[in-house]
Amino acid sequence: MASVQHDDIPHFDVLIIGAGLSGIGTACHIKNTFPKKSITLLERRETLGGTWDLFKYPGIRSDSDMLTFGYNFRPWNKLHTLADGPAIKQYISDTADEFGVTEKIQFGVKTISANWDNEIRCWTVIALHDKSGEKRKYTCGYYISCTGYYNQDAGYLPVI
Ligand SMILES: Cc1cc2nc3c(=O)[nH]c(=O)nc-3n(C[C@H](O)[C@H](O)[C@H](O)COP(=O)(O)OP(=O)(O)OC[C@H]3O[C@@H](n4cnc5c(N)ncnc54)[C@H](O)[C@@H]3O)c2cc1C
Repeated sequence: MASVQHDDIPHFDVLIIGAGLSGIGTACHIKNTFPKKSITLLERRETLGGTWDLFKYPGIRSDSDMLTFGYNFRPWNKLHTLADGPAIKQYISDTADEFGVTEKIQFGVKTISANWDNEIRCWTVIALHDKSGEKRKYTCGYYISCTGYYNQDAGYLPVI
């Protein structure tokens, strides 16, 4: 068990919010560079991939070539350089498995606040667990937000 308990509150050296391209990439770098640090990822959805799982419309693909869009530590080696959504999701998922990050993700856990606590010199994070409806508290030394920039709850309706 990587986490240390303080008064029954799970504590991690590094807590990452979001298991999309950024969250998984960040977690891989941390696991490689600081293998002894405890780490967790809180992901509000039931799967990883973020953008590349959320959007399913036909023909979805990246505009950037995968040689620059992919991770430098796990180069894209397919022949097509402009990948479609499912291929990018698979790439993120395979990377997470290969680097032992998948098992660090807590799915269905939506972060609702994060505050620095001067007294305990840690971040205090409150998250809502989808299944139980419970709010739970975590503490961490480093808090990294990889939440992307979409409103996941509703599409944007412009006023025209
Ligand atoms: C069709 C399309 C094509 C694109 N093409 C390109 C491209 O070619 N090049 C490029 O650079 N970018 C492109 N983008 C932008 C793309 O979103 C980003 O490049 C990248 O995938 C974002 O990754 P991310 O991990 O930062 O965010 P996301 O993929 O949005 O992942 C964020 C994750 O955080 C989770 N999360 C959010 N809030 C919370 C919370 N409160 N608690 C817990 N979890 C939370 C979400 O559920 C999600 O899984 C494209 C986007 C789309 C839709």
